[in-house]
Amino acid sequence: MNPKQPIKMTIESRKSICYKRMSGCGNLYITIGEDESGAPYEIFVQNANGCTSMTNTFARYISNDLKEQTRDLPKIIKNLRKVPCAACIKKNSPVDGKSCCHIMADVLERYVKPEKMLDSPF
Ligand SMILES: [Zn+2]
Repeated sequence: MNPKQPIKMTIESRKSICYKRMSGCGNLYITIGEDESGAPYEIFVQNANGCTSMTNTFARYISNDLKEQTRDLPKIIKNLRKVPCAACIKKNSPVDGKSCCHIMADVLERYVKPEKMLDSPF
């Protein structure tokens, strides 16, 4: 590699916010990246236990939807909220939603409507 040559960025830098929530699967880290206009553009989800592959799959599909012109975010949020999970419902300690997907919906809604507090969403 030539040290005088600038490093070619293969990934765009973009503004993002990471939210930490508690689910039946443990700590859930949800990162929302935004486009140049400030609209949500992509979402990433990390959880150490539980439904990692499922939440990552949903995050990929949501990101694809967000990148489309239609960006039907209310519909995405509505559908994610319909998904309950026994891991969240049966957990003895407090959780932030009735499933990891439900929590993703709340975070997306809070991102686009920060004035709306969702302390007791379900
Ligand atoms: Zn989960």
